[in-house]
Amino acid sequence: MKSLPILALLLATAAGTARDAHAADAAAPVLKGLDGLYPELDALYRELHQNPELSLQEEKTAAKLAERLRKAGFEVTQKVGGTGVVAVLRNGKGPTVMLRTDLDALPVEEKTGLPYASQVTAKDDSGQTVSVMHACGHDVHMTSWLGAATLLARAKDRWRGTLVMVGQPAEEKGGGARLMLKDGLYSRFPKPDFAVAIHNSATAVAGTVEYVSGYALANVDSIDISLYGKGGHGAYPHTTVDPIVLAARTILSLQTIVSREKSPLEPAVLTVGSIHGGTKHNIIPDEVKLQLTLRSYKPEVRKQILAAIERVVNAEAAAAGAPRKPVISLTEGTPATYNDPALTKRLVDAVSRTLGKDNLRETQPVMGGEDFSEYGLAGVPAVMLWVGTVEPKRHAEARAAGETLPSLHSALFAPDRERTLRTGVTTLTTSALELLGKP
Ligand code: ZN
Ligand code: ZN
Repeated sequence: MKSLPILALLLATAAGTARDAHAADAAAPVLKGLDGLYPELDALYRELHQNPELSLQEEKTAAKLAERLRKAGFEVTQKVGGTGVVAVLRNGKGPTVMLRTDLDALPVEEKTGLPYASQVTAKDDSGQTVSVMHACGHDVHMTSWLGAATLLARAKDRWRGTLVMVGQPAEEKGGGARLMLKDGLYSRFPKPDFAVAIHNSATAVAGTVEYVSGYALANVDSIDISLYGKGGHGAYPHTTVDPIVLAARTILSLQTIVSREKSPLEPAVLTVGSIHGGTKHNIIPDEVKLQLTLRSYKPEVRKQILAAIERVVNAEAAAAGAPRKPVISLTEGTPATYNDPALTKRLVDAVSRTLGKDNLRETQPVMGGEDFSEYGLAGVPAVMLWVGTVEPKRHAEARAAGETLPSLHSALFAPDRERTLRTGVTTLTTSALELLGKP
């Protein structure tokens, strides 16, 4: 009896070691197929890059992916939540794992000078003709995602469970994930036990993966404010209520919400990004419009700041003797992306076994937004990993020179193609194999 705890410990240790070895074993033979598949993926990437489509117009993009997934053996449904694609591969009893890519591009005129640069134009929602570019690298996500789906479909003997591939429209507008969930993503199709996605990083070295455990991207709120005064002649201000002076005071008061009211240990940003009012030097207008963006992580911080904005804006208008209360309207953007800590650890351990420990690095959260957050909020542990895109030598040079590299959404954003795509495929394939059941 005395030897039992020691025996149990030995068995547990052996099981742990076996599990680690198994995870590496599970991914390595599947990833061997990547060399043979790469030329096809490279061609797909160039094709997607040259044919970008704006949010909710991703019809050709969705069709291309759907066709390839069907060929790979997936059961494919199109037009989910607009132009979304859902592809399911059932492979016996086991966990359900969802891999998500976004499909849309941005109204940006590409200036990379690459031979496969986009020359596409399209009509945006207001009917204006705009240039279109995959300036956020969603073409990298799609290619990596399709690569992982293909490798996993070819290696069905190495895993058990259900693989759900989700191609989501309109990430850049922030509504695509919500549209897919509303259209029954978690009810018409198998509800996942885990959701995983990658996003390009314009600062990380190609071949590496960066991660954040917990809050990784922010809540994004857009606030429109109309301030009212009483217009008149610029030479007779005493006969008016000047909304321009009111706007100036309001903007300065708003600055104290983040700096003086919120705990300094809770991150948030409040930016007044636009101010419009008036027509001429000597006319005091009736109205000034402000547009704000608010970024935060915790729901309680978001709530506190929204309440403070309302209080400050109304109080400043009252102090100015405004004839009408301001109108404040809130457009809810994307909620904060929370990387489930336990799942993050599991995936980081698995991916570091295939990419090498030195190629994984913990990084800081950012104040950008991503609607991948919606899948987690709908009750599924979720993780988004950053995949590096910067050619290693270029990265070192920029660092030495203190130079800033082109960011995401830049007309110059150009991922180091092969390294980035291979890392994307490896990351998604390894993550899926880690979470799916073993035969
Ligand atoms: Zn973007
Ligand atoms: Zn993006």
